[in-house]
Amino acid sequence: MNLILLGPPGAGKGTQAKRLVESRGMIQLSTGDMLRDARRSETPLGAQVAAIMDAGGLVTDEIVIDLIEEKLTAAGGGGFIFDGFPRTLAQADALDALLGRLGQTLDAVVEMRVDDEALVDRIAGRFTCRDCGEMYHDTTRPPLIPGKCDVCGSDDLYRRPDDNADSLRTRLLEYYKKTSPLIGYYHAKGLLSPLDGMEDIATVARGIDAVLDSAAS
Ligand code: ADP
Ligand code: ADP
Ligand code: ZN
Repeated sequence: MNLILLGPPGAGKGTQAKRLVESRGMIQLSTGDMLRDARRSETPLGAQVAAIMDAGGLVTDEIVIDLIEEKLTAAGGGGFIFDGFPRTLAQADALDALLGRLGQTLDAVVEMRVDDEALVDRIAGRFTCRDCGEMYHDTTRPPLIPGKCDVCGSDDLYRRPDDNADSLRTRLLEYYKKTSPLIGYYHAKGLLSPLDGMEDIATVARGIDAVLDSAAS
């Protein structure tokens, strides 16, 4: 079962992907996380993409397709959750070709629909555990003990440099211009399941479970 989580920045893709890793043993492939890893390890690639990411632009198709190809080939099997990829039609075509080469298929695309005003609130309140990647929010998902990660106990909780108002504006524009055409693309392929991403985290999770269960049967 291979799934794409499609939605604007702050829609809840990472939150739901992490949950599916735990509940179903799926493999999360987040190009955002891969690019942030590249930055942390101070590779040439990291330096090349840093300014684009901080400004909220899209990194070139070539770079993200190479990253995904590397991870897919290394992982072998299936059970992939694509989180934040593909973000352009060229990336979607490349994914199709890659999966085909590995003898895999794409089983479902969940479109997470969230109002723009809510996205702004979610991004403004978002923070993450640097040690385990658990995602938090100031009001909707605060840690049980302030400043401490519920999952791993770390106190290294951080806010992303691109989670600011200017960058978010650019990211939303990029989403509507370059990524939202994928909604029609996957609808035409009969793979699209739109979901109300305004619901709380547990309700959205049940919606995704229902999509996966019906795609499996
Ligand atoms: P969000 O959680 O806000 O949706 P991500 O963590 O997925 O953001 O991505 C952060 C940034 O990394 C993006 O704004 C973009 O600069 C870059 N990025 C991530 N995935 C892609 C992709 N598939 N294509 C191009 N750029 C990407
Ligand atoms: P994305 O990966 O799509 O950018 P995230 O999963 O990082 O989105 O979620 C963005 C922020 O919104 C996080 O702070 C997260 O805790 C919070 N969040 C995620 N899903 C929901 C939801 N259904 N309701 C309210 N807040 C949510
Ligand atoms: Zn943690």
